[in-house]
This record gives sequence, structure tokens and C-alpha cells, in this order.
Amino acid sequence: MSDYKYSTLAVHAGQYPDPQTGAVNVPIYLSSTFELTGIGTDRGWDYSRAGNPTRDRLEEALAALEGGYSAHVFTTGMAALSALFAMLRAGDHLICSKDVYAGTVRLLDRIVSGYGIEIEFVDTSDLKAVEAAFKPNTKMIHVETPSNPLMVLSDISAICKMAHARGVEVSVDNTFMSPVLQSPLALGADIVMHSTTKYLNGHSDGLGGALIGSTPEHKERFGLVQKAAGGVMSPFECFLVLRGIKTLPLRVKQHEENGRAIAAWLETQPKVHKLAYPGLKSHPQHELALKQQKGFGSMLSFEVESREAAGRFLAALKIFLSAESLGGVESLASHSATTTHGSVTEEQRGIMGITQGRIRLSIGIEDKEDLIADLEQALAAV
Ligand SMILES: *Cc1c(COP(=O)(O)O)cnc(C)c1O
Repeated sequence: MSDYKYSTLAVHAGQYPDPQTGAVNVPIYLSSTFELTGIGTDRGWDYSRAGNPTRDRLEEALAALEGGYSAHVFTTGMAALSALFAMLRAGDHLICSKDVYAGTVRLLDRIVSGYGIEIEFVDTSDLKAVEAAFKPNTKMIHVETPSNPLMVLSDISAICKMAHARGVEVSVDNTFMSPVLQSPLALGADIVMHSTTKYLNGHSDGLGGALIGSTPEHKERFGLVQKAAGGVMSPFECFLVLRGIKTLPLRVKQHEENGRAIAAWLETQPKVHKLAYPGLKSHPQHELALKQQKGFGSMLSFEVESREAAGRFLAALKIFLSAESLGGVESLASHSATTTHGSVTEEQRGIMGITQGRIRLSIGIEDKEDLIADLEQALAAV
């Protein structure tokens, strides 16, 4: 299967006909328990927290898409991150990108730190800062690239070289790029994390998270967390993500085309400031984007002059919905300071560089001319 090209993998990896019926779609196995064949023997499944046939197929598909050894799926992206950080022990040191998803900051600051794990937020776009952050007890670096919402990139392969020289593992939150546009494992990372809620599901109708590991130890560890901690993805949600994956390459192509066109147009608008999109030549890390990504995606952010201006802009939008989240077929716009970064303090936002005028767009797959016209009339209201 791994010899196939991407679009073929998306349709077929893990998604072969049901052995019993020939159904071309993976059935949703709504069964908490499975009949045993004898004392201590079964047909491969005994209880759905430990394993479910629908979930197995999704995990097979995700491992193939990221080129991993195995994948494990969880109720949400946050549950996947909780499972990831469950690899750490009291006394371990974790380095995390400074401007990660705000939920990741909340999980680390308010829960994981309570387990005696030392957490340090570092600007991972600055390799010197990464180099300086290692300690003898550093166990893991968690990197999010591009970052949210400022689209700052971290050099995955350079960070992996530094980390591996010290026996430190690297995990990458690949949610913003999807497996189509960035392959962290191929760049040297050890673990990839996704919120499947976003591009992988792609239709804003289900929550989920995934960890894709590169070694048998990861498989054992993440399988244990599923079984022991219990935050597994439901068979129905697994089905939705399997269904979404079939059109992922196609959707991402359209997302990407729209993203590039809208970024190029926004760049010409006098009311738009500090536009952040890695596909623009004006992006300070455009070269790195060309090197480590297979495209630029459809996430971007920019500033208008004030919080009031941002409010007027969002209220005037007709096609773009003012909502959190990203990666769905519909275009969304959000005010970063009160939505995705509402849970961090104004001071932390200041350090991150997220102002009250910052707006993030998740560009959907609608017609790009309609989307530009919508943005144009909303900017006129600013
Ligand atoms: C949404 C998101 C998460 C969290 O995922 P949920 O499915 O909402 O729990 C983590 N990382 C990134 C980059 C995200 O966009």
C-alpha cells in the first residue's frame, strides 16, 4: 500500500472492502463488547475501549498517510495531546513551541505541570533559543508549525537533529497543514499529532485527535493510554474521519488554491496590516515553507486597526462565518484574542504578538471570487 501515491492512499489505505460482506465502505461497528471464542481467545477484539474494527481501519489509514509505524485515535485533539504528554514522568523537562494552540498551553500549564513535569515555552522558530533550552532532563520537544494564528514556522529537520543528538524525542502538531502538505516523520520527527476535527474530518461535524508514532514503543505506549485512560474516538466519529480522508487531497488542493489567491489579494488592501501567510514572498520564512511544506495551506491572519474595526469586519461578512475552528469546507473568520486565545492572559497575548485587531481566516473550498468579494465588502465596513 505504501508504494501508492497520495490520492490513491487517501481512498484505499485502511479502506478496503469488509471481509465478511464485501461492503466497500468500512462498517461502523457499534458494539462495546465482542463474543469470545474460548477462554482467553477472541477474533481480534474483546472490548471497544481496547480496540474496535472501525477504529482499527482509521488508525491504519492515518499511519499510511503520515508514513508512521502506527496511529491511535482519541476523542479530541486535546485527548490526543493528553495521551502524548502521558509519556512524560515527574522530573522530566518538556520544551514546547511558544505560540502553540492555546488549548495546549492550558493543558500544560494547568494540568500537566501538576504532575511534576517541567514545562518550558520556547520560540522554536529560533534555533539558537531551542539549542539553549535543552537540559539534561529534557525528554521531548513539542512543535507546532505553522503556529496559530501568526503562521510562524519552525524548522522541523533542524530541531530533530539537535534533539536526536541528545536523545530527545520530537512531536509535531501537524493540524494546520494536514498530512497532505507536511510530513513531519519524513523530516525526522518521532511523533505526529492531529486534531482530526479540522482538515482530516473536513466537514466540521465531529471531534477527534490522533497520534502517529514511528516505533513499536510508541504503538505500545499509545495503545496503553487508549485502554488505560480511555479517551478513544467513537466508531461513528472514526467513520466520519475515514469518509473525510477520501477527499482530503482534493479538498486541500482547493483550500490551497483559495488560500493563495486570497492572501495575494489581501496583500494589496490598505486596511490589512501584518498579513501572515507562508505562501507570500513577504513572509520572513517563505524559503523554509518551500523547503519543508508541500504547499502553504489555507490558514492566514492579519490585523485591522482595532478591536472595534475587527468587530465591524466580522459582523459584515456574509459567506465567512464568524466562528472558531478551521479546516472545514466552509470559510471561517475569528477574532483571535477572544476566541482561540481567549484563555490566555492579555500579557501572554502581548508576548505572543496577538493584538486586539488580529483576525484569523480559515479559507474553505467555496469559489474564490465569491470569497474575495465577501472580504472586500466587509473591509469596506471597517
Ligand atoms: C483544534 C486544535 C487542537 C485541539 O483539537 P480539538 O479537536 O479541538 O481538541 C490542537 N492543535 C491545533 C493546532 C488545533 O487547531
